[in-house]
Amino acid sequence: MNFDYPAEAEAFRAELRSWLDEHFTEPYQSMKSVLACSPDDPDLAMNREWNATLADARYTAIAWPEEYGGRGAGIMDQVVYAEEMHRAGAPSTVNLIGLSNIAPAIMEYGTDEQRSTLLPRMLRGDDIWCQGFSEPGAGSDLAGLKATAVRDGDCYVVNGQKTWNTLGQVASWCELLVRTDPEAPKHKGISCLLVDMSLPGIEVRPLTTITGDSEFNEIFFTDARVPVSSLLGAENEGWRVAITTLMHERGGVAALHLGLRAQIRTLLDQAKETPLGDGRMAAEDPALRQRLARVYLEGELLKLLSERALSGALHGRELGPESSLAKLVWSETAQHVGEVAGAVLGPDANHGHWGRDRVSMRSHTIAGGTTQVNKNIIAQRVLGLPRR
Ligand SMILES: Cc1cc2nc3c(=O)[nH]c(=O)nc-3n(C[C@H](O)[C@H](O)[C@H](O)COP(=O)(O)OP(=O)(O)OC[C@H]3O[C@@H](n4cnc5c(N)ncnc54)[C@H](O)[C@@H]3O)c2cc1C
Repeated sequence: MNFDYPAEAEAFRAELRSWLDEHFTEPYQSMKSVLACSPDDPDLAMNREWNATLADARYTAIAWPEEYGGRGAGIMDQVVYAEEMHRAGAPSTVNLIGLSNIAPAIMEYGTDEQRSTLLPRMLRGDDIWCQGFSEPGAGSDLAGLKATAVRDGDCYVVNGQKTWNTLGQVASWCELLVRTDPEAPKHKGISCLLVDMSLPGIEVRPLTTITGDSEFNEIFFTDARVPVSSLLGAENEGWRVAITTLMHERGGVAALHLGLRAQIRTLLDQAKETPLGDGRMAAEDPALRQRLARVYLEGELLKLLSERALSGALHGRELGPESSLAKLVWSETAQHVGEVAGAVLGPDANHGHWGRDRVSMRSHTIAGGTTQVNKNIIAQRVLGLPRR
């Protein structure tokens, strides 16, 4: 199935493509991802500059309503946007989590003051946001979180530890989940605070991953005094805010097939040019051909799942378990591609972009909902199996 793009979406494509041709030039083309930047990295400043360039043209968050600096773009324009940014190889914004996950929660639950002060700076990349949800003992079972916030006058006194915090090393704000009522049932005693990371009592400790980058962090809160005005939504209603945030996190899967299918195409091309040492190329070996065909089909399946989700959205259906299915197929296929790259390229798959991708893609089956948890959701909501 292929979408027929409406004329307006094609006009938007032409406009964006020519804007990218003009503005996405060096040095932006060769800067590293914001995820890999430390606070004093020159590439971080360059990423912020690129973000501001996008914002000036209202290309940072096109799905945001116009009143917040977006374009109120519909689904087809969002698809076109993802395709064109991918075609150009253009990085998105510095607020990888902020724009798509945290901002919708601020728009829905924030006060006028929170919306008017926080969102414009997030949009331009003046402030980078991180999401302080997971803890050493609370990931899949997020509602089991233990970090506390105790009211003292016009502040909450926050204590506890967060982990796996993406972008925390460069973030100036954090959407933080804390327990404000330890007596209440676990989903009901949680609040959400929008925390200025420069407050005393907050320590960020980067974790270095196998890629050598420090995109994850632990965050320690020791008697940090956070103003009560930082509350997002009502006290003890933080679980609703968290669900809004995570719903948008899982909703982002619709464009995932773009990057993965490009990777599969690259691997197919490389297989045709990689000698096996017996006079044949890798693509001529029957066993390798079968594995290549399998990942190719998995990539196409992912595209169909994404398009099914998009088609549902175009017909006014809420995003349902398709996002869990797409996340599952995307993350598992990514790992299969890495394994087949190892078989096709041999030691050459241990360095360069394959070397990096093959280790970093191991995290995909954990981030944003683990494979096992997604399988539970699919079992119950798609297959109608009983809850265990
Ligand atoms: C790339 C990446 C980025 C991340 N970014 C952030 C971030 O910015 N902010 C943040 O707060 N967190 C972030 N996380 C953390 C992420 O949300 C958690 O890792 C995830 O929710 C899983 O939690 P956990 O690691 O504690 O594992 P656990 O929940 O402890 O799970 C351990 C194992 O048990 C399995 N399991 C758990 N529950 C069930 C169940 N009910 N049924 C069957 N199996 C189960 C899991 O599938 C897994 O295999 C990130 C993680 C990754 C990998």
